[in-house]
Amino acid sequence: MVTFNNKPNSISNRVNDNIIPTRSVGTKDGLSVLITELSKLPGIGAKSAERLAFHILRMPEKERTHLARIIHSVKDLRLCQNCFNITGNTVCGICADERRDHSVVCVVEETDDLAQLEKTGAYNGIYHILMGHIAPLDNKGPEDITIRQLVNRLKKDNVAEVIIATNPTVEGDNTALYIQQQINLELGDRAGGIKLTRLARGIPSGSTIEYANMAILTDALKDRRELITGT
Ligand SMILES: [Zn+2]
Repeated sequence: MVTFNNKPNSISNRVNDNIIPTRSVGTKDGLSVLITELSKLPGIGAKSAERLAFHILRMPEKERTHLARIIHSVKDLRLCQNCFNITGNTVCGICADERRDHSVVCVVEETDDLAQLEKTGAYNGIYHILMGHIAPLDNKGPEDITIRQLVNRLKKDNVAEVIIATNPTVEGDNTALYIQQQINLELGDRAGGIKLTRLARGIPSGSTIEYANMAILTDALKDRRELITGT
């Protein structure tokens, strides 16, 4: 809620000082609605929502209209029917890209994880987004995420490798284990033809052994790699 008080640095004084033209503010109701909606975004509290709302109001009209159009166009976004990535089409750009290796599927929990992996530029396969992980304590079972759809993809597509890139957390590990079991169960003999891998874990690049905790060190030892020696 916006409160209009007389504190020296309050937003209301800035409005009254005409740093924000009063006529641009619109009705108090319209502004309150904007702040309420912004405050529903993750990580945005009431104060941040107010700051964002007034920032938007201060923007030149052209930029504000552009932002409004972009937000409005979000309603046309949907999930890729193949991998559950967010797209404006039936199939996302990654699935539609024939230059990518469609025989390798990287399974991630969320679209954000896909975005992070894409930023590395180190992966040329395609993806499957689970839309979460199995979390019994939060009442989220296997049927609440897209494991069934993943198994169906593997049944019909020619996949050589599935990289399970769920998070290295208890939930992520349990989800990875469940996926492994389902692939073995549902694909039968064909499961043997699919290489199942899990992202390596251990000491982060740029970090040191001294600062690694026991779980990280244990993972690093378990996932150690052979160094190629000689010629
Ligand atoms: Zn896709």
